[in-house]
Amino acid sequence: MERDDESDPLETCADCGAGVSDTDRGYSVGADAALCHGCATRRGGRWDETRDAWVDAPAVHDLAHEDRAFPSEA
Ligand SMILES: [Zn+2]
Repeated sequence: MERDDESDPLETCADCGAGVSDTDRGYSVGADAALCHGCATRRGGRWDETRDAWVDAPAVHDLAHEDRAFPSEA
């Protein structure tokens, strides 16, 4: 398989507008928003290099949709 991964960002950072690709260690906010690594870290997120995963989530309350935070409200 041949894919041009370098120019294939998955999301756009909700803070700074940078492209966030799968290899950028970005933070996904729900299905339609994301933060780049720098912005996620600035918002309090903590990345574990050994686990290759976020161990503390950044503050994204202003990005996430409220209907996702309260799914039972209908
Ligand atoms: Zn950013």
